[in-house]
Amino acid sequence: MKQSERALAQCIGCGCDDHRSCDTDYGKCTWIIVDRELKAGVCSGCEAALQAWHDGVRTPPELAQAANG
Ligand SMILES: [Zn+2]
Ligand SMILES: [Zn+2]
Repeated sequence: MKQSERALAQCIGCGCDDHRSCDTDYGKCTWIIVDRELKAGVCSGCEAALQAWHDGVRTPPELAQAANG
């Protein structure tokens, strides 16, 4: 049985997502915080990005650059 596709969330720190988790000292990253509606989160490899998250950042760096254009 196929589950309905869940929108991928992307880490605002490194851009990894549910299908492409990055490697941390403890293995594959997990979400520290994730907002499925906004499709954004901060993974366990990017604790430094938590500050940006709390500042309201919900966009991965490369997408933020595109938006600035
Ligand atoms: Zn990350
Ligand atoms: Zn990650």
